[in-house]
Amino acid sequence: MTALVYDDVYLEHDTGPHPENAERLRATCAHLKKTGMWDKLAHVPARKATDEELGYVHTKQHIESIKRVAQCGGGYLDMDTVMSKGSLNAALSAAGGIMAAIDAVVAGPESDAFCMVRPPGHHATPTHAMGFCLFNNIAIGARHAQRKHGIERIFIVDWDVHHGNGTQDTFYTDPSVLLFSTHRYPFYPGTGHDTETGEGAGKGFTVNRPMSYDVTREEFIAAFESVLTGPAANFNPGLVLVSAGFDAYIHDPIGGLSLEVEDFEKLTRLVKNYARKHCRGKVVSTLEGGYNTRDLPRCIEAHLRGFAE
Ligand SMILES: [Zn+2]
Repeated sequence: MTALVYDDVYLEHDTGPHPENAERLRATCAHLKKTGMWDKLAHVPARKATDEELGYVHTKQHIESIKRVAQCGGGYLDMDTVMSKGSLNAALSAAGGIMAAIDAVVAGPESDAFCMVRPPGHHATPTHAMGFCLFNNIAIGARHAQRKHGIERIFIVDWDVHHGNGTQDTFYTDPSVLLFSTHRYPFYPGTGHDTETGEGAGKGFTVNRPMSYDVTREEFIAAFESVLTGPAANFNPGLVLVSAGFDAYIHDPIGGLSLEVEDFEKLTRLVKNYARKHCRGKVVSTLEGGYNTRDLPRCIEAHLRGFAE
C-alpha cells in the first residue's frame, strides 16, 4: 500500500482568489474517493512541526515573522504569497505531515507515501517565504530523516515546473543531499541554470535540468531518466524525496510544459524503480504546484498509480 498524509487543516490556508487554493485538495479528495483509490491508501495522520524542527532549515527570524503575521490575521508576504488566520496551522501541519510520512515509510510496511499538503514549500528559502510557500516542507523532511533516523544521504527529485530555489539554497554546500530539479527555464523564480551545481563540499550535488517552453514530453522524460541513470546512479541514498508539482502539465494555467496526465505515472515509476535499486523502494513525495483544478486530481491519481508494482 501507498501511505497518504492528508488533513482538513490544509483547507484552512485561505488564499482568497488565488491559483493555489483549497479547491485543489477538495477536488482531489473527491476524485480519489469516487475512483476507489482513497480506500486503497494507508492513511497516516499529519502532525505539527515544532519550532526546533522548523529550525532545521529556517532562521528564527523567519519562523517568528510567519507567526507574527498569523497572529495579526494574515496578509500578503510578497506579491504572490499570502497568509490567512488558518495558514500557520496548515503550514506547520504541512511540514509535520512530511515528517509523519517519513516516519511511516522508515518503519514500514509501507515503502512509499504521498503528502497531499498545502501550502507548498520548495520556494521557501531558509530566510524567506516566497512563491506561495511559507516553510520548505521537503527540506525540513530531509533534515528530519537525517537527524531522527540517521539516514546519511537523501536524494531529492523536484519535477515541479518551477525551479526549487529554496531547496537548492538549503543544500547548496551540502554533499549529503543530492538535489535534482527539472523546470521550465527561463521562468519563475529565475534560478536553476545548469551551471548551478553546488558550492564547496556540495559541488556536484545540485543537478539542474532546465527545459525550454517547447520541450516535448518525450524529451522531458528522456532528460529526467538520464539523470537517474547518470549523475544520481552512484549516490546511493537511504531515502528518496519528491517535490511533486503537477504544473508541468500541458493545460496548467500558470506553468505548463508538454506533460500529459499519464506522464506523471511514468515519472513516478522511474523514481520508484530507482528507489527499489538503492533504498528498498523508499520514496516520500509531497505536493508542490499544480493549478488546473479540473485535471490535477487525475494527475495525482496517475502519480499514486506509479507507486504500485
Ligand atoms: Zn510550481
